Amino acid sequence: MPCCTECENSLDVELDEVEEGDVIACEECGTEYEVVGVEPLELVRIGDDLDEDDEDPLDEEEEEE
Ligand SMILES: [Zn+2]
Repeated sequence: MPCCTECENSLDVELDEVEEGDVIACEECGTEYEVVGVEPLELVRIGDDLDEDDEDPLDEEEEEE
């Protein structure tokens, strides 16, 4: 079970239920972690030192008639 790097609380992560891209929040301090890998489980803290700022391509055009 991974621990929160902020408060060392155990993060409640169900390995069966998480997948890459999921965000987990620490129940104690609210720090959020993104799941970047599941085997092995790898979490990165989402916070002020965010080093990945992907811009979501929200303007994908779908041709629908
Ligand atoms: Zn915490």
